[in-house]
Amino acid sequence: MIIVMSHQATPAQVAVVVEKIGELGLKPEISHGEDRKVIGVVGGNAYAYREAFAHLPGIQEIVQITKPFKLASREWQPRDTLIDVGGVTIGGDHVVMMAGPCSVEGLEMLLETARHVASRGAQILRGGAFKPRTSPYSFQGLGEEGLRMLAAARDETGLKVITEVVTPGDVELVARYADILQIGTRNMQNYALLQEAGRSGRPVMLKRGMSSTIEEWLLAAEYMLSQGNRNVMLCERGIRTFETSTRFTLDINAVPLVRELSHLPVIVDPSQGTGRWSLVSPLALAAVAAGANGLIVEVHPHPDDALSDGAQSLDLATFDKLMIDLGRLTGALVRQTAQ
Ligand code: PEP
Ligand code: MN
Repeated sequence: MIIVMSHQATPAQVAVVVEKIGELGLKPEISHGEDRKVIGVVGGNAYAYREAFAHLPGIQEIVQITKPFKLASREWQPRDTLIDVGGVTIGGDHVVMMAGPCSVEGLEMLLETARHVASRGAQILRGGAFKPRTSPYSFQGLGEEGLRMLAAARDETGLKVITEVVTPGDVELVARYADILQIGTRNMQNYALLQEAGRSGRPVMLKRGMSSTIEEWLLAAEYMLSQGNRNVMLCERGIRTFETSTRFTLDINAVPLVRELSHLPVIVDPSQGTGRWSLVSPLALAAVAAGANGLIVEVHPHPDDALSDGAQSLDLATFDKLMIDLGRLTGALVRQTAQ
């Protein structure tokens, strides 16, 4: 439940409410709203204790949060979360483009890609250094050497960097180089990893598990929010269905639905979501039309030579066309893309 304090509530009255929450064995989460304080009460069946607060002064209203996810819900925070990634805002009406290779393969290809996507309006460079591959025989990434290349590309181009972290023990290492930690579909329910990423305080992009419901996904986000990390964004990247013509089925429904249920930004990955480069731009446009706050797209200067996911990577010219179309689309929708 959430306890909404009145405009006139004094700090002492807020402190009494917070103390009471602790006495009941529950956890307070204070949010400083624009004009009043709201205290989230997390844990167990908090609403059952509402009578204990009925007579405390300074309380305007006690509201039950009906969803199992609390801090991620719109009931808890009606306004959109805006995440500041070193000056790049993610959330609200902005549409942010994250682009780059599936894997960091080497410095030259990374710099070539980074320079190109930056010149067309991308603000964030993607590239995996630690790759969770389905087969143990596939390319596993360059590890820390790849992280250093991403940092070099950031220094040269000004792009912010997003890269995946696959184990809790690597969170600190990856957070030293990355502006955003990516948690992949295969790790959405790796709770030790979620907690460590939550504790790091770095912005995190949480991909939807390929077989996870929206509720499970939001509860996974709740693991990080409840560690005090409010800089969490979600990424729809396609789910497993009966359909085998495409690698996954990109769940466009999830975009406006999650934005109704949650205040967290929603990013869409049409590259993993389709598995085919020719479908990436149409689905990217559909995602933005459906309300996505951003896109993450795989781009490679020579997709045929890519060490991973070449079939779903855009070449530079196709990426250029997508950026032109996105500029036109966001203009029609009264949204904004960086130019
Ligand atoms: C990726 O972004 O390259 C990736 C492996 O993503 P996912 O976790 O969605 O498969
Ligand atoms: Mn990939």
